[in-house]
Amino acid sequence: PGTGAAPRPPRSGSMTKVRVEAPGKVNLFLSAGAPAADGYHPLTTVFQAVRLIETVTARRQAADLHGTITLTLDEPDPDVPTDETNLAVRAAALLAETAGVGDGVDLLLRKRVPVAGGMAGGSADAAAALLACNALWGTGLSLTELTELAARLGADVPFPLLGATAVGHGRGDRLTPLMARGTYHWVFATAAEGLSTPAVFRRFDELAEASPTGVAAAPAEVPASLTAALRDGDAAALAAALHNDLQAAALDLRPQLADVMALAESAGALRAIVSGSGPTIAALAPDPAAAMRVANALNASGLVAEALRADAPVAGARVVG
Ligand code: ATP
Repeated sequence: PGTGAAPRPPRSGSMTKVRVEAPGKVNLFLSAGAPAADGYHPLTTVFQAVRLIETVTARRQAADLHGTITLTLDEPDPDVPTDETNLAVRAAALLAETAGVGDGVDLLLRKRVPVAGGMAGGSADAAAALLACNALWGTGLSLTELTELAARLGADVPFPLLGATAVGHGRGDRLTPLMARGTYHWVFATAAEGLSTPAVFRRFDELAEASPTGVAAAPAEVPASLTAALRDGDAAALAAALHNDLQAAALDLRPQLADVMALAESAGALRAIVSGSGPTIAALAPDPAAAMRVANALNASGLVAEALRADAPVAGARVVG
């Protein structure tokens, strides 16, 4: 099925509604190399899917509306667009175009991942929309084919389809699952105002230019200490191995984040780091009670918008109704 195929009429007799859940993520490791000619940074990153779950419900439209894609938020949010720039709408449109589908869809979005927090909430929505529309429209693309479409929508979109724990190479979109035992107890401290991922990468480049050593062309590989910690289910060893090359850039743009990290650690976290491109701070706790204490301390501090507890790893996008 190629692009530009004539739209097919809506299929009759298939389901009228599909609900899909997809997780947000935390980066356990992120190493960035020097930007390539196209401006993109080669990455090595380890994603872990966390129990902050986005829900996309795709509904068949009345026949006279076929071909349009609409999106509604269950709770309106001025920071989340509902037009064709929403990543879930772009995902549905890309699937319709690729599969030559003429059907429209009404998408209902329930967000639980902090917006513009470096936790790939929009990417999870796109992954969920791909899976939901593939079922609703009966387009029958395989997970491999959906993953290829996902990578065209954004480097972080394939991971929420896969879930659990995985290494990403390339732009972070070429994934290999990683063995991980046990459950990790995270606290995510969100900021009132997001940080733009491109702005954080720009600052990363500026800091690299100013440094005598610069930045290596290729990103570092995942350290053996991190894969061993995951294999052993050892939270303390994982905490020691957490690393984010973008942390210095995010802290440079938002120095107050250092106070949030220090508070999380003094309240009982094994370690706190900037999540992805920030400004969310991810704190790894040794057990659920410690996670509760860290979340309470952060919420009482006035330093953060909200502290959310979430276990990890969790499964990737799946149809739940
Ligand atoms: P990433 O780390 O992948 O760059 P993020 O987790 O930092 O993403 P998102 O919440 O995914 O950030 O979205 C960032 C911006 O994208 C938002 O400020 C918003 O304007 C726009 N956006 C588009 N679609 C969505 C969506 N479905 N949910 C949230 N934001 C969206």
